[in-house]
Amino acid sequence: SRKPFIAGNWKMNHTMGEAQAFMEAVKGKLPDASKVETAIAAPALFLAPMNYLRQGETLKLAAENVYFENSGAFTGEISPVMLADLGIEYAIIGHSERREYFHETNEDINKKAKALFAAGVTPILCCGETLETFEAGKTAEWVSGQIEAGLAGLTAEQVSNLVIAYEPIWAIGTGKTATAEIADETCGVVRSVVEKLYGKAVSEAVRIQYGGSVKPETVEELMAKENIDGALVGGASLEAASFLALLEIY
Ligand code: 13P
Repeated sequence: SRKPFIAGNWKMNHTMGEAQAFMEAVKGKLPDASKVETAIAAPALFLAPMNYLRQGETLKLAAENVYFENSGAFTGEISPVMLADLGIEYAIIGHSERREYFHETNEDINKKAKALFAAGVTPILCCGETLETFEAGKTAEWVSGQIEAGLAGLTAEQVSNLVIAYEPIWAIGTGKTATAEIADETCGVVRSVVEKLYGKAVSEAVRIQYGGSVKPETVEELMAKENIDGALVGGASLEAASFLALLEIY
């Protein structure tokens, strides 16, 4: 009964002109919103114009990052209330690229989750292990730690509404998708952590996406799995035709 949620993550790609062309190309072509929820996470600079361009469409919008304070002397940052004020529905937090290149910690990410919920923006909380951790057989332990730390202090109601994205770092941008079995297994681990902390009902409500080289050719098998409720898609979300192809199964 969890509605699938397919989200693109553009990362640091496109110009505003390309973003506009994408929005025009998907207009009127998105699947029925009762079957699947769709979103694009775009550079912060594009969110206001994209919010205007998506009028009349079911497409949701997401920030790729956010700060955990709502205003103040934090040069270069954008806040949860700024997103909420525009009507942006989601914000990705704790993407592996932010953790690696910008030194984000589980503690920062937890503060971001709390600040987003307080502002009325839904977090997409990312987790995922390196190839080294995967090969050492420590994926479950690692991802469980990230989830426990990320959720600290959140209420059951908040976690019921949360989106979690499991993205093995070794599958991001490598063309190496985790097999549907591996992806499902780790999404199942994430769900069991939520169950342990918040109980069965919350664990059955939380939506868990898989991310890492998802392509139109692989999306169907992944989405058929019990514990995978959607996808967070980088490369294959950049072109409108490819984004729409990801949604063809709906
Ligand atoms: P790719 O789909 O390009 O592997 O990126 C995955 C990702 O990091 C989405 O957040």
